[in-house]
Formats: sequence, C-alpha cells, structure tokens
Amino acid sequence: MKLTEHLYFYPENGMMDCNHYLVKDAESLLIDPGSSQFSSELIAQIKRDGIKPEDIKLITNTHLHPDHCWANSALKQASGAKIISHPVQENHHKGALSRMGSYFGIPGLGFEVDEYLKDGKLTTGKLTLEVIAAPGHARESVCFYCPEEKFLVTGDVVFSQNIGRYDFPGGSLEDLKKSVETLSRLDIEYLLPGHMDIVSGAENVRQNFEFIARYVFNSL
Ligand SMILES: [Zn+2]
Ligand SMILES: [Zn+2]
Repeated sequence: MKLTEHLYFYPENGMMDCNHYLVKDAESLLIDPGSSQFSSELIAQIKRDGIKPEDIKLITNTHLHPDHCWANSALKQASGAKIISHPVQENHHKGALSRMGSYFGIPGLGFEVDEYLKDGKLTTGKLTLEVIAAPGHARESVCFYCPEEKFLVTGDVVFSQNIGRYDFPGGSLEDLKKSVETLSRLDIEYLLPGHMDIVSGAENVRQNFEFIARYVFNSL
C-alpha cells in the first residue's frame, strides 16, 4: 500500500513476521524484511505495486529480533541489495542474533552486513532518512525518520496505543521511556510501527504519544 510519494507499507503476514516499509527511490530501501517464511508473499506484494525485486538496492533493520531480520538473506538473494546497518547494531550483531535465535528457538539466524552508516543518515536518492538510536525494546533499536515526508518507522519502540516489550534480553524500561520522549518531539504525519496498525495524521500521532505518556508509562 502506497502511503506517501515514496513510501510503501506491507503489513505483517502472520506469526513471527513484522510490518515492512519500502522507500521507492533511486536506490530503493526495504526496512525489515521480516520472517523468511513469508518472503515469497512479500516479494509478490511488492511486485503488485510495480516494484521489481532488483529495484531494491538497500536492506536495513530497525533491530535484530528474528521477526524483523530473519529474511534479510532471502531478500538480499532475491534483490541483490546491500545490507546496511547503523553502527549501534555492530556490537550487537553477532551476540544479538545468537541470543535471540536461541531465545526463539531459531537456528542459523545470520546475515552479513555489507556496510555500516557513517553519519546516522541513509540516502536513497531524493530522500535522506535520519537513523535515530532508540534503545529500550532492544539495545540496538533504531528508528528511521524522513523530514521531507514526515514519516517515522519505529520498529518495536512505539506502537498504536502501546510501547514495545522491554523484557527481552537487552531491554530496558528506562531507556525506552527516554527513546519515546525523544521521538515524540519529531514532526510526524505517519507513525509506522513494526507490528499492528499504523497511526496517520499529525494530530493522531500527537494523541498517541500523549496516550502512551499518560496511560501506558504512568501505569507501570
Ligand atoms: Zn522486537
Ligand atoms: Zn517485532
């Protein structure tokens, strides 16, 4: 589903999958390939929007939980894209993958990163996304913010009317609070979480952050 001039949204296909976001640009970017069980379904959905798998030049992840990065290798193979990662994910790469692989009982969860971002920015052509470190759900969580089209891909940091879990290895409620607070100051039209519904419209996004501050964090 097309959301903005450059952004496409593909909702999660089932258990252990996640919402996928594709920035269509000179170097199209796929954020969170999700579960490899659903790779062919995801590729079919992308094709239905007139985007060829080989148009995808870059693949990246909001964090390294298997429901977000399990299909990195499959999508890289299908597209020939490079896997790009934020430096905060470098230290956690191998550790996080093997920890979460055994936590979820998934063997052989692994992929090679082709390039680490140098300045926290990811350029796809016309658009440049700011890659914001947002620990709390996972130590290596990052969010992707596009000032031009005012969308924020949050991974599992913030959802519609909820926050991400902080009880997985590497999670921290204190960090999560700070991250959500930082994100709430951005000018956002589309809040794009890793699971369930998206939130669209600046006023709805503002109310969502207010709801979380008032009813979610306050009740913990
Ligand atoms: Zn997660
Ligand atoms: Zn997730």
